[in-house]
Amino acid sequence: MEIFDKIHIDLQLDRVQKQVRFNNPDKVQPLVDRALQVMDPKAVYSSEYPESMQEASVRISGQEFQSGVLRKNLDGVGRVFPFVITLGPALEEEESGLEDLLDRYLLDKIGDLILRRISRQLQEHLQTRFGITKLSSMSPGSLPDWPIYEQEKLFALLGDVPGRLGVRLNESLLMIPRKSISGFYFPTEISFFSCQLCPRKNCESRKAPYDAAKVEEYGTAESR
Ligand code: SF4
Repeated sequence: MEIFDKIHIDLQLDRVQKQVRFNNPDKVQPLVDRALQVMDPKAVYSSEYPESMQEASVRISGQEFQSGVLRKNLDGVGRVFPFVITLGPALEEEESGLEDLLDRYLLDKIGDLILRRISRQLQEHLQTRFGITKLSSMSPGSLPDWPIYEQEKLFALLGDVPGRLGVRLNESLLMIPRKSISGFYFPTEISFFSCQLCPRKNCESRKAPYDAAKVEEYGTAESR
């Protein structure tokens, strides 16, 4: 497991307001300041190799991952990077202590935005370090094809995530602290987003439009 320690968070208010879809600097700026003050961002990753593949599973460093989509995405890929990123527990403690529901919502969205920034920085780091042009990512639990219980295998690849990062899995295999993300980065020629295969309507976190042709290509229509 390697620690990614090149995290730099520089949030411009106008861009934050656009991303959280709320244009009120007097409301948003204090929440941005608070988020930057209390968060404790950390990230870890490792470099692994797909060992073998079946029709809907892929074996990576001794762990058998059951996902046809992941298997297809790793077809011909030489290297894959499991990762976990967290903002630590203080941000969500701060959030739950807020009485104003709008403040809570905005702080939550600011946390998501910071996680995405760190994810992008980690991807850029991996691209430079390993000479990779483009990376995409997948997270356990993002699609029915790759259920949340596969999270344990991902953590097993990384080693002592609770000890090194302070992130553990609860009985539902969700990460604690909640403001954490995990998954694999993998080299790709064309950007892949799980959202392209996800039919959920009105999802505020959607990163790409639903793509029926992609669903057909990945053969996931029956898992919806
Ligand atoms: S559309 Fe929303 S629920 Fe579906 S994969 Fe994307 S972020 Fe997740």
